[in-house]
Amino acid sequence: MSSKQDFTLIGAGIMSATLGVLIKQLVPNAKITIYERLDKVAAESSDAWNNAGTGHSAFCELNYTPEGENGNIDISKALRISESFEISKQFWAYLVKQGLVETNVPFINDIDHMSFVFGEANQRFLKNRYDALTAYPMFMDMKHSEDFSEIESWVQLMMEGRNTNEKIAATRMPIGTDVNFGAVTRKMIAYLESCDNVEVHLGHQVEDIDKRDDGTWEIELTDLGTDEEKTVRSKFVFIGAGGGALKLLEKSDIPEGEGYGGFPVSGQFLKCNNPDVILRHEAKVYGKAEEGSPPMSVPHLDTRMLNGNRSLLFGPYAGFSTKFLKNGSYLDLPLSLDAHNIYPMISAGINNISLTKYLIEQVMQSPEEKFEALVKYYPEAKFEDWELITAGQRVQIIKKDKEEGGKLQFGTEIVASKDKTLAALLGASPGASTAVSIMLNLLQKCFPEEIKSQEWQTKLTEMIPCYGKSLIEDGELCKKTREYSTAVLKLEDV
Ligand SMILES: Cc1cc2nc3c(=O)[nH]c(=O)nc-3n(C[C@H](O)[C@H](O)[C@H](O)COP(=O)(O)OP(=O)(O)OC[C@H]3O[C@@H](n4cnc5c(N)ncnc54)[C@H](O)[C@@H]3O)c2cc1C
Repeated sequence: MSSKQDFTLIGAGIMSATLGVLIKQLVPNAKITIYERLDKVAAESSDAWNNAGTGHSAFCELNYTPEGENGNIDISKALRISESFEISKQFWAYLVKQGLVETNVPFINDIDHMSFVFGEANQRFLKNRYDALTAYPMFMDMKHSEDFSEIESWVQLMMEGRNTNEKIAATRMPIGTDVNFGAVTRKMIAYLESCDNVEVHLGHQVEDIDKRDDGTWEIELTDLGTDEEKTVRSKFVFIGAGGGALKLLEKSDIPEGEGYGGFPVSGQFLKCNNPDVILRHEAKVYGKAEEGSPPMSVPHLDTRMLNGNRSLLFGPYAGFSTKFLKNGSYLDLPLSLDAHNIYPMISAGINNISLTKYLIEQVMQSPEEKFEALVKYYPEAKFEDWELITAGQRVQIIKKDKEEGGKLQFGTEIVASKDKTLAALLGASPGASTAVSIMLNLLQKCFPEEIKSQEWQTKLTEMIPCYGKSLIEDGELCKKTREYSTAVLKLEDV
C-alpha cells in the first residue's frame, strides 16, 4: 500500500530493530535492509553491559521530576516517560504473544524500583514527589517511607552498618523492571531475518548518503570484511546509528540537520563479583545526582538479570572521551565540527562549564575515590568485591539556539528531511525504554498519511492496545494494560 516500500536502516541497535519490526507488521511486503558496521547485532549502547537496563518508568529516576524554586515538583516528564514504557511493554508483549520472538530466557524481569535520598531537604523533596506522583493512577502503588526499619525490610544490604539516626527516605514501586535491551534487540533482528524481503548485513559501514535527482537516496558502504566499496539505493533511510548518527546526518546534507553538534559522555560501572552480595540485594535503587552533574550520572545500585543470571552494579561514573561510539575513533568529536555547528558547540561549551568541570573531576577520580560513592549507598561494601567496567558511549545533542548560541540537550530528537524520506535519531536518554514511542513518533513524522489509514490504525491498535489513548488520565485502562503486559511477559519477582 505504501509507495515507500524500500527501507534502509543504518545500525543494528534497538531503534532500527524496533522500527524494522513496526514496518514489517504495517507493510508486510516491505523490502527492508539493515547495515551494521560491527560483526554483531546490538553491540554498542543497546548491549546489556553497555547500559543500566533500567526499564525507565519514572518510578525511581529523580531527575525526571525536577523541583521548582517554590518546592513544587514538575512531574510532566515523569508522566510522559512512564506512559512510553507501558507502550514498549505492550509492543514486546505483542511480539511474545504472536511468537515473533523466542522467550526461553526472559529479556525483561520484575525488579522493584526505589529512590533513596539523604538529608532533610531531600526527605522533603521525596515526600512532595511521592504526593504529586501518587495523585495519578500510574504511580498509585508507590510506597514511601522515612522509617529505618521499614526501609531495611526493603533493602537490608543498604542499611547494614548505617547510623540509625541518619536522615534518609525512600520510595518503592513493586512493578519496576530490568530489561536486557541487547537480548530483545537480537530477538527482533532474528525475527526480521526470518521474514521475506529483509536483509541484515553485518560488518558493513555506511560512509555517505546522497540524495539523487529522482528523489531516492544513494548510500555508499564499505564491506569491512573485504574492504569492498558498494553503492545501494533506497527510497527511505533511517539513520539509527546511535553515536554514529550525527556524522551520517551531516553527510546527508539535509538542511534540517544543520546546527546540530554532539557532546560525548562515557560511562563506567562498578560490577560486583561476590555471589553472596549479589543475592542479598534485589532492587534498582536510584539516588539523587550531585549538584552540577549531568542527569545521566544519577548513582544507582542495581540488580540486573541477564540471560537468567543475576548481577549487581553500581554507577554510572561519567567520563569524557572524544569517541562517539564505544567502538569508535578518538577523531569522532573533532571531525564532527563543521561550519554549521562550530558556534553552537562553542556556545554550549561556555554555557556548561560546570558540566565540563564535573566530567574532569570524574575522570581524575582514583578507583578508591569511585568506591567511596558506593559506600554511601552500601556502607559495608568491600573494595575487593567490585571491578570497574566500561559501559556505552552517549552523545548528547548540542543544538543551535537563538538566545544562547548553542544548547546542550539530554533527550532524544528525530531529525527528518522536509520530504520525509530520511530521518535520524540523535541523543540518548531515556533511550531504549522508550524506543517504541520514539519510533512511532518517527512513523508519524515521515508517514503522516499512511499512519492515518484504517489499515495502519488497526494494526497499530492490535500491537499496542492503548495506542492513541491516555494511560495518564484513564486509571482503569492503565490497570488493564499493565495486567495484560505483566501476564504475557511473565513479570514475576525473580
Ligand atoms: C551508560 C549508559 C547507560 C544507559 N542506561 C539505560 C537504561 O538504563 N535504560 C534505557 O532505557 N536506556 C539506557 N541507555 C540508553 C540506551 O542504551 C540507548 O538509548 C539505546 O541503546 C540506543 O539505541 P540505538 O539503536 O539508537 O543505538 P546503538 O545501540 O548504539 O546502535 C547503533 C548501531 O549503529 C551502528 N553504526 C554506527 N555508525 C554506523 C555506520 N556508519 N554504518 C553502519 N552501522 C553504524 C553501531 O555500530 C551500533 O551497533 C544507556 C546508555 C548508556 C551509554
